Amino acid sequence: NNHAQIMGISFPKMTMDQSLHLLEDVVGQNRKELFYVVTGNPEIVMSCQHDRKLRSIVEEAGLVTADGIGIVMVSRLRGGHLPERVTGCDLLIQLLEKGNRHSWSFYLLGADEPTSRRAAEVIGERYPGVRVAGRHHGYFHKDDEAAIVEDIRAAAPDFLIVALGAPYAENWIHNYKAHLGAKVAIGVGGSLDIVAG
Ligand code: UDP
Repeated sequence: NNHAQIMGISFPKMTMDQSLHLLEDVVGQNRKELFYVVTGNPEIVMSCQHDRKLRSIVEEAGLVTADGIGIVMVSRLRGGHLPERVTGCDLLIQLLEKGNRHSWSFYLLGADEPTSRRAAEVIGERYPGVRVAGRHHGYFHKDDEAAIVEDIRAAAPDFLIVALGAPYAENWIHNYKAHLGAKVAIGVGGSLDIVAG
């Protein structure tokens, strides 16, 4: 079996390298539907035990990664071996590295305004081949969401990084998945804070 089951959540047995290859393939294709990635951390797995909507969002994801050593360790005790952890932050950095060579575009959604601005600057300096197609901080009002979705759609990024924390990011992606115009969306937590330094 090529999946590990952890508390009812199915994790594909994929390394970081395999995950990157999969996402590279997705970006190279012209899919009609958004491909979204759930970075499956213990909080998400626990929340799925009582949150049915979140569970269905995770089940519909194109990729669920083992976000954290805890998930990998549990998989070794039961449910089948996961090869290694693939955290949201590591995945983002690897995608920026790869994106630097492939001229990928990224839209950054989330974190506070100074962090968002700084993260875009750092990416511009460190990964000149990457295009930051747009960004928006993550402390918006419900009434602003339509404009943000439109901004993302107009930017049509290869990757939409949704750094709103779990399960806010997963729910947000799911709510707007038909309207985002991105190829891949990834829900992460504090990754932009780390990129911004
Ligand atoms: N955040 C946001 N809007 C919110 C709440 C949080 O943009 O309404 C951002 C916050 O600034 C931080 C990230 O989401 O950058 C949450 O990071 P955290 O590490 O707490 O998330 P987790 O890894 O626990 O999912």
